[in-house]
Amino acid sequence: MSAPALREAAWTEFLLAARTHLGAGTKLLEREVLAPRTTLRVGGPARVYAEPASAEDLRRLLLEAGRRALPVLLLGRGSNLIVPDDGVDGLVISLGHANWQQFAPQPDGRVRVGAGLRLKNLCGLATKAGLRGFEFLEGIPGTVGGALRMNAGAMGGWMFDVVEEVQLMTLPGEVRTMKRAEMHVDYRHCGELREAIALGACLQPAAQSEAADIRRQIDVYQKKRVESQPREPSAGCIFKNPPGNSAGKLIDESGLKGARVGDAEVSGVHANFIVNRGHATSADIIGLVREVRARVKRARGLDLEPEVLLFGREWRDVL
Ligand SMILES: Cc1cc2nc3c(=O)[nH]c(=O)nc-3n(C[C@H](O)[C@H](O)[C@H](O)COP(=O)(O)OP(=O)(O)OC[C@H]3O[C@@H](n4cnc5c(N)ncnc54)[C@H](O)[C@@H]3O)c2cc1C
Repeated sequence: MSAPALREAAWTEFLLAARTHLGAGTKLLEREVLAPRTTLRVGGPARVYAEPASAEDLRRLLLEAGRRALPVLLLGRGSNLIVPDDGVDGLVISLGHANWQQFAPQPDGRVRVGAGLRLKNLCGLATKAGLRGFEFLEGIPGTVGGALRMNAGAMGGWMFDVVEEVQLMTLPGEVRTMKRAEMHVDYRHCGELREAIALGACLQPAAQSEAADIRRQIDVYQKKRVESQPREPSAGCIFKNPPGNSAGKLIDESGLKGARVGDAEVSGVHANFIVNRGHATSADIIGLVREVRARVKRARGLDLEPEVLLFGREWRDVL
């Protein structure tokens, strides 16, 4: 049998095994188009897309995929991703089921949150509960899981500033709890979550406060975002800031605001955002990333490193 035929046979077996064992609440879809599940709105289908309703079903999916050497990819809100136009030949798992959206203040003052909880909801629920310290996350359109994996940050704060411990599942299905101090966390990176799935985290609020005071701070941050970020579909900042420099400033100074490939455009509002002007493809976005890197390299001698991830691929293979 040819390699593609063997792979197809592995998927058929996987689906059969998964459908036999998974609970009724778990969603399993074939060839689900991912573009609408991302903020940039580009990209093709996942060979298989799953929303497990429980840790047991998640474990089962991982084991069945692992047994057949089928790749597994995690999808949060898809706000830091470029999905290739031809999609991904993998099992794409989303913790979109309500069971992963827990927000539970503990008697000791900490808060347990599920990895599927949207950061917007985390901020809203914390405000209602009078818990300060999460305001900087308002406006980052991701989930707790994606924010842990990326160590998302804004307004001077980083996700791991508020993390005490993370509960994760390894690809062989083992559940572990790791303390913040045991984890390797860096700018837009968490080493332990490259090869594992965040199930949830225990967060430490900064203090108790009046909801109205927390709301005021959130409003300040929201206003800053509205003034400095484009409204069109995007994946946030495309490139990491080089040490001591700003990627947006470098791109702007290289005269690239408004540069286009197809319907992908360097935003005129913030040069480190590439926006989808309507019908951009993944190839357009990647083409523009290449163009921006080449122009900044020529003008300033610097290699910009993408912050946004290429789903299921490595940037070095396309740049
Ligand atoms: C308008 C806009 C503004 C933005 N502003 C900011 C900002 O200020 N600061 C900032 O840091 N980012 C920003 N971003 C980028 C993005 O929102 C963050 O990186 C966010 O944390 C990604 O979360 P997500 O759920 O969308 O993850 P996704 O984009 O779906 O995934 C990102 C990575 O996390 C992995 N992942 C997702 N869930 C899990 C999980 N449960 N376990 C393990 N891995 C997982 C994925 O496999 C992938 O590798 C912005 C994006 C947009 C569109």
